[in-house]
Amino acid sequence: THTINKIAAGEVVERPASVVKELVENSIDAKASSITIEIKNGGVDFIRITDNGKGIPKDEVEIAFLRHATSKITSAEDLAHVLSLGFRGEALASIASVAKVELLTKTPNALTGKRIEVEAGQMLHSEEIACPVGTTIIMRQLFYNVPARRAFLKATATETTKIADVVYKLALAHPEVAIKYIQNNKLVFQTAGNYDLKRCVFSLYGKDTAKDTLEMQYEEEGIQVSGLIGLPTLTRANRQYEQFFINGRTVKSNLLQKATEEAYKTLVTIGKFPFVILHLNLPPEEVDVNVHPTKLEVRFSESERVYNAVYNGIRKHLQIENL
Ligand code: ADP
Ligand code: MG
Repeated sequence: THTINKIAAGEVVERPASVVKELVENSIDAKASSITIEIKNGGVDFIRITDNGKGIPKDEVEIAFLRHATSKITSAEDLAHVLSLGFRGEALASIASVAKVELLTKTPNALTGKRIEVEAGQMLHSEEIACPVGTTIIMRQLFYNVPARRAFLKATATETTKIADVVYKLALAHPEVAIKYIQNNKLVFQTAGNYDLKRCVFSLYGKDTAKDTLEMQYEEEGIQVSGLIGLPTLTRANRQYEQFFINGRTVKSNLLQKATEEAYKTLVTIGKFPFVILHLNLPPEEVDVNVHPTKLEVRFSESERVYNAVYNGIRKHLQIENL
């Protein structure tokens, strides 16, 4: 199984940014209200994620590193209704097969926690220890045992940018969680949590951006659309600031992009793009998330309803402000 893990790891673990994404999503699934992300040297040398979530019971820690070990779904039936971010049980196994991993974890009711070290898929060390409730995972030397994949990584600055992209998206996707992001010992941002998307945007993009956005709350035919939408004057030169989240996941969607741009069509200068951070909540069975782990494109079963909810929601909010 060792070789299989190493091969399959390529699917989930493409680069340091994918490690960060998987680990932070685990923390969110564990209901953490606070998560600290630290990276060094483009994340290749060092990634540490600390959360205050529910922890892993001592007797399940080693199991969590086995391929297809997930505590999140118990039947194939569940797949259609997944709301947790992870459900394949691949991330920990994959990461630990291509890096050196140290994990410390404690559940709220346990007196002691557990600390383990895994390298290249091999359990090196395991001990009972005293530690706070929650989980800390440290990953070191990504791809140290797969030189071909390591050689494929981009320059440190590029890998750092890719991680920052992932972390910004996670922070926007989860305004309920206080997220702290530290790059090479320097604090990059810290969000407040408590579902305060406006303050979150303030922390990430600065005061002016937060000032020129409207809060949006809209529901149409069972589809909830909420978030922040920029005034037509707050435009950007590219689509990077049209950000969409569905049930807490970052997604790419031509449909959502189209609905948004059509809603702003007569309002923003041609060639400019709006600033929107939209959260959609809809029944999980109406969105297909069971695609490739690193592909973000979604499919909707009722795309017209989704399009209308976004388009009408944005139009309504922009007009209420009498622009
Ligand atoms: P998945 O997220 O698809 O279940 P992972 O390999 O990412 O698979 O994680 C395996 C299991 O390890 C999870 O199902 C969960 O039970 C446990 N786990 C991983 N990270 C954490 C964490 N930060 N807090 C609590 N449990 C965790
Ligand atoms: Mg996971």
